[in-house]
Amino acid sequence: MRVGIFGGTFDPVHYGHLRAVEEVREAYSLDRVYFVPAYIPPHKQTKKITDYDFRLKMLKAAIRNNRYLRLSDMEIRRKGVSYTIDTIKAFERRFGEIYFIVGLDAFLEIDTWHRYTELFSHTNFIIMERPVKAGVNEGVRGKDIFPREVRGEITEYDRESFQHKSGKRIYIYRVTPLDISSTLIRTCIKSGKSIRYLVPSPVERIIGEKMLYLNGAI
Ligand code: ATP
Ligand code: MG
Repeated sequence: MRVGIFGGTFDPVHYGHLRAVEEVREAYSLDRVYFVPAYIPPHKQTKKITDYDFRLKMLKAAIRNNRYLRLSDMEIRRKGVSYTIDTIKAFERRFGEIYFIVGLDAFLEIDTWHRYTELFSHTNFIIMERPVKAGVNEGVRGKDIFPREVRGEITEYDRESFQHKSGKRIYIYRVTPLDISSTLIRTCIKSGKSIRYLVPSPVERIIGEKMLYLNGAI
């Protein structure tokens, strides 16, 4: 079984996430993709994020009618700060060969992740290109996307993939660029603008019912 893992804060989940995963699932013939919401994201500890239960509820509603998509609440069950390395190792124990799906924007910060160098020996990566942000991922190409510490362990495999010395592969995949982010959704809500067609309608309904994102920082 080919299993994809898609981690994130999902505050809230939106069509950018869903469409990107749909395209990756199809392109790499994944049998299943697990959405894994971060319980306590290490990078967002100073930021106020929505209660885990609400983020989970929205995800559940968003993926309900897609038989390939699953939800994992592993990170709340593990308790404490949510580190990707722990999640990856748990999935690897269960499924063996796994594919960690991540946007290029997030991957470019991987050197700030806990014990990130270990990740490359435990999972394959599928890196999704997101719309280019001036000055951030502009002109980042080839092995430049890897932090210096691991660059020596990685070779170019073919036009769209790399190989780590462990044998694990890193694929780069261009998904249809949809410039939607959770930040955009939160900003719209705070300024009283519609989020229709940016998130699935059941998600929009939950946000309305629970009055999420009306107050607080973006
Ligand atoms: P925020 O604006 O709060 O950072 P986000 O929209 O980036 O939220 P996250 O939960 O931070 O969502 O992201 C989870 C994963 O989804 C990351 O790997 C991110 O790169 C990817 N991702 C988010 N939005 C898109 C999109 N529109 N297209 C492709 N990948 C996306
Ligand atoms: Mg993000």
